[in-house]
Amino acid sequence: MFVSIRPAARSSALAALFFASIAASTFGWSHDSTPPERDAVAAKFIAQKLQFWQDRMNLKDWKIDVQLVRADQLEPKTLGNIHWDTDSKTATIAVLSTEDYKLPWKPMLDDMEFTVVHELVHLELASLPRSEASRRVEEHAVNEIATALLKLAAH
Ligand SMILES: [Zn+2]
Repeated sequence: MFVSIRPAARSSALAALFFASIAASTFGWSHDSTPPERDAVAAKFIAQKLQFWQDRMNLKDWKIDVQLVRADQLEPKTLGNIHWDTDSKTATIAVLSTEDYKLPWKPMLDDMEFTVVHELVHLELASLPRSEASRRVEEHAVNEIATALLKLAAH
């Protein structure tokens, strides 16, 4: 089992940029929604995105769960992580809860999708040798690949 972490630096920049423009989206969130309702809607969105990306990235033979978790369950300044077991081909992706996100609704969902794709790229690399030294360069490569995939999907 290996834990990889998605640093939050990219998102903090976005937070400052988008914080003023809070808006509801087609995913049913409104200002009246309670935190558990927002997490439920976000979890449904993420589950759909997971299915889409698992299919696209040819990871359908993996059983992957996604959980929304509070900030104190993640490494400091991170937005998600993944634990996997290559023998059983099971994995769990943790994504920061809506309660602890500093972004408005739509940018937050986009960011959550990025986390899912990011962690799935780690999963694609699961069979590669890995060391403390390689983790940082892997993180950079994973971000570049995830960004490219999401740009392609947006066309
Ligand atoms: Zn990572």
